[in-house]
Amino acid sequence: MKKFVNVGMKKKKRIALVAHDNKKQDLIEWAKYNRGNLGDHEIYATGTTGKLLEQDLGFKVTRLQSGPLGGDQQLGAKISENKIDVLIFFWDPLEPQPHDPDVKALLRIAVVWNIPIACNRASADFIFSSPIMKEEYSRIVLDYNDYLTRDISEVENEKA
Ligand code: PGA
Repeated sequence: MKKFVNVGMKKKKRIALVAHDNKKQDLIEWAKYNRGNLGDHEIYATGTTGKLLEQDLGFKVTRLQSGPLGGDQQLGAKISENKIDVLIFFWDPLEPQPHDPDVKALLRIAVVWNIPIACNRASADFIFSSPIMKEEYSRIVLDYNDYLTRDISEVENEKA
């Protein structure tokens, strides 16, 4: 039987905002509309998205590398270290990106750790209108200890 663990999220959430170039305007408009709500939380963003958020909204943003240069991977690493609680990621469904593998990896790792993800404005609105955004929340994550303590003797034998 599968086991699960609870991962606590505080009232003040650590929110990652990312938008591909064709979606940046969308994200900035959404962020302006939600300025009040976002102000209660800690904002992280990939390089260019973060720069626009700082310029247009005057937000204090923890800016990572630009997405195509590793920013998406940095966010993925933070999610796996339980340093990001919510991912708002307006990716472009109509244009291939040079860093498509990173985009997929970021979305994948967000699912692995069961954090809320919004990939368009309507989903972001639904997440932000949820009362849980302002409360502590315990999210349920598969207990990966079974995986970490799995029998790897066969792998070791193959190496020998
Ligand atoms: P950017 O990266 O904010 O630096 O443009 C976003 C992305 O393409 O992932």
